[in-house]
This record gives sequence, C-alpha cells and structure tokens, in this order.
Amino acid sequence: MRTVVFDIDTQRDFLEPGGALYVPGGETIVPALRRILLAARDCGVPVVASMDAHTPDDPEFSRFPPHCIAGTRGQEKIPETVVGPVRVASVESDPDPAGGETVILEKRKLSVLEAPLFEATLAALRPERAVIAGVATEYCIRAAALGLRERGLEVALVTDAVRAVDAGDGDRALAELREAGVRLVGMEAALAMFRESGTCAPAAA
Ligand SMILES: [Zn+2]
Repeated sequence: MRTVVFDIDTQRDFLEPGGALYVPGGETIVPALRRILLAARDCGVPVVASMDAHTPDDPEFSRFPPHCIAGTRGQEKIPETVVGPVRVASVESDPDPAGGETVILEKRKLSVLEAPLFEATLAALRPERAVIAGVATEYCIRAAALGLRERGLEVALVTDAVRAVDAGDGDRALAELREAGVRLVGMEAALAMFRESGTCAPAAA
C-alpha cells in the first residue's frame, strides 16, 4: 500500500519552549518524530511536511497569538525533523514521487489540505495511506486526519508522536478521529507499515 508520512507543523514556534505558540510538552515527542522520519527515509517512504508560513496580519491571528511568520526563526522546522533531502514545493518543481524525500507544503491555514500545492502533491504521490505525526492534536493534526480520511485514504495517527495544546481537547479530538475511521497506532505499528510498503535499507528491515 502506497504510504506517505504527513509531518505536521514540526516548527520551532510550536515545539520549542518559549516558542510563540508553544505546545506544552511538545519537545517530548521530538525523539518519536525523528524515529518516524528516519525509518521513512530508510524505507523510501515519502514525507510531506506541512509548515505554517504566515504573513504578519493573517486572519488566524484573531484566534491564536502570532506565530510562524514566514522568514522568522520561529517558523523554521526544528532540526531534528529535517532528515534527508528537503524541498519546498513550488509551482516550478512538481513533487517528485521518488521515495525518501521531504516535500514541504507551506500553508496559512490550519489544514494541510488548504496548502496551495496540496492537490498537486497528492496527485504526484497518489498515497493510499497516510501516517500522521506532529502538532497540535486538536487543531492541525485533527484537520489533516479528517481531511485525508474524507479523501478516501487510510489514515494512521501515531499517538506517541502527537501532542495537544490542551490535554482534554486532545483526547476529545482523538475520540472524534477514531469515530471517523482514523487508526490510532503506536510506533511499532507505524514502522511495520513502512516495512510493508517500502523497500527498506538492510539496517531498517
Ligand atoms: Zn498557524
């Protein structure tokens, strides 16, 4: 089954203490995020990384404090989630379905499905299954999981590798996602999906 990892908003402003919209405890999922991304690379599983890239006056800032403004340090991806070749999707460079590459989709709204180049990327990669990790559970993770599910993909959310802003809201979001047919999986199940769908380097097999 063609699998793509969706690495959602693993940016300094969300994951680093002191970040503009810090997700409490966000740094605790970083080792799990890195493990997923390294395993995806080793098995040739493509990674789509959404990244907030806001303008200073984006409408979202009536609801959330300003964060991830394009070009600021806070908008950068944390270094632990930069694994292998990374490319920002642009209209000039069609997404390359070759495995093991991270394609960055910049967005100004919560859902990765609203990233301007989402459709082109989906058309190029034609995933049957999405493995989702990142932040925050009740906002952008929820939006990605529900949106990809509605598009007919099998969706697996790695519970060790997501974090909520509010624990109660996060739990409610997970229950809603399960109800919508999203599979909540642990790390080992996610890695098994990569082995099943990819051609893993011997060390990862
Ligand atoms: Zn945002």
